[in-house]
Amino acid sequence: MKKRIIIIGSGFGGLGAASRLLSAGHDVTILEKRDKLGGRAYVYEQDGFKFDGGPTVITAPFMFDDIWNAAGKKREDYFDLVPCDPFYRIFDHTGKSFDYNNDHEFTLSEIEKWNPEDKAGYEKFLGTTKAIFDKGFTELADEPFLNFTDMLKVAPDLIKLQSYKNVYSYVSQFIKNEFLRQAFSFHPLLVGGNPFDTTSIYAMIHYLEREWGVHYALGGTGSIVHAFEKLITEQGGKIHTSTEVEEIIVKNGKAVGVRLEDGEKLDADVVVSNADVAFTYKNLINPSHRKKYTDRKLANTKYSMSLFVIYFGTDKQYRDTGLAHHNIILGPRYKGLLDDIFHKKIVADDFSLYLHMPTLTDPSIAPDGHEGFYV
Ligand SMILES: Cc1cc2nc3c(=O)[nH]c(=O)nc-3n(C[C@H](O)[C@H](O)[C@H](O)COP(=O)(O)OP(=O)(O)OC[C@H]3O[C@@H](n4cnc5c(N)ncnc54)[C@H](O)[C@@H]3O)c2cc1C
Repeated sequence: MKKRIIIIGSGFGGLGAASRLLSAGHDVTILEKRDKLGGRAYVYEQDGFKFDGGPTVITAPFMFDDIWNAAGKKREDYFDLVPCDPFYRIFDHTGKSFDYNNDHEFTLSEIEKWNPEDKAGYEKFLGTTKAIFDKGFTELADEPFLNFTDMLKVAPDLIKLQSYKNVYSYVSQFIKNEFLRQAFSFHPLLVGGNPFDTTSIYAMIHYLEREWGVHYALGGTGSIVHAFEKLITEQGGKIHTSTEVEEIIVKNGKAVGVRLEDGEKLDADVVVSNADVAFTYKNLINPSHRKKYTDRKLANTKYSMSLFVIYFGTDKQYRDTGLAHHNIILGPRYKGLLDDIFHKKIVADDFSLYLHMPTLTDPSIAPDGHEGFYV
C-alpha cells in the first residue's frame, strides 16, 4: 500500500532511502534544514573553488548502481566515476612514501621498497581478507543483530575469522614492518574507529578497495548529490531545503508526522530520520516516548571521534611536490597518537593528516592554474 513518508535529512542515507522508497511506489518528502542537500557531503563554494565538505573516497560504487537500477535508470547517465591511482600515497614522518592500488605486482614492488620479506605476508593477508569480506559484508552486513542470540549464531564464524583480534594485530601477524603495518591497518579511521580497538572484520575494507577500486566522482562528490536530486525529482519525490524539523510527533508509540521549526505540522504514515541517531532521540523525540533511549543513556554512550577539516585553495599549482590525489601523512607516533585521541581524549602536539588534492584528477573544481585541497 502506498504510504506517505517523510524523510528528515538529505545526507546520502536520506537520499538513498528516498529513491528506494519512491522505487517501491511510496509518496516521499525530504525535509532538510540546511540550504542545500548532501549533509556531510555538503559542498562549499568560494571564489571559483568547490570544496567537498566530507566524503571523497568512493569504495563501493555498485551500491549507487543498485539504487539507480531499482529506479529503472542507469547511474552512468547521471554522474561519472573515475578510478584513483594510486588509491592512497602514505608518507611516514620523514617523507618516505608508499603507494598501493589494485595492481598486485605494483603493490608488491612498493612493499619491496620497505621490507621485501613482507611480500609473502601481504599475499597471505590479502587471501584472508576475501573470507572476511564474504562473511562480514556479503552475508552479515544486512543482519540487524537485535539480540544476543543473533550474535551467538554467527559467533563460530567470527571466531574462525579471528574477529576477536583488532585490525592492527590482525595485520601484524602477516606483516612485520611497522610502517607497512600502519599502511594496512589505518582503514578503520575512515569510519571513526581505532585500528587498535576495532574488530579485524574491518580488514575487509582493503579487500573492498582491491576488488572495486577507489573512485572519485567527476565534479566532486557534490555531483553525486546533484544526481540524487535529479533522480528523486524525476521519481516524483518532493524536496524542501531550509526546513528544520523540530519534533517527530508520536501517538500510541508510533510516529505520525513532524512539527517544523515554524510550528507547521505535517502528517505521515512513516517518518525516517537521517539525522544522527543520538541527535534524533535526544532532540526530536519527546522523552515521554522513549523509555530505553533516555537522555542519561545517550549521554553515557560512546561516540566515535570528531575531526577538524581545513579547506584551502592556492593561487599556484603544486604538481612537482610528489603528492597524489589521496595522501596520508603519518606522524612519528601511531599507537600513542591513537591512544591520545580515543582514550585520553586530548589533542596531541604531533598529528597525522589526510591531505586531499582533487584538482590532480579534476582541475574543473578550481580556477585555471589554481589548486584545491582539504586537510
Ligand atoms: C570529513 C569527512 C570525510 C569523510 N570521507 C568519507 C569518504 O571519503 N568516503 C566515505 O564513504 N565516507 C566518508 N565520510 C563519511 C560520510 O561522509 C558519512 O558517513 C555520510 O555522508 C553520512 O551520511 P548520512 O546520510 O548518514 O548523514 P548526514 O550526511 O549527516 O545527513 C544528515 C542530514 O540530516 C539533516 N538534519 C539533521 N537534523 C535535521 C532536522 N532536525 N531537520 C531537517 N534536517 C536535519 C542534516 O542537515 C544533514 O543534511 C566522511 C565524513 C567526513 C565528516
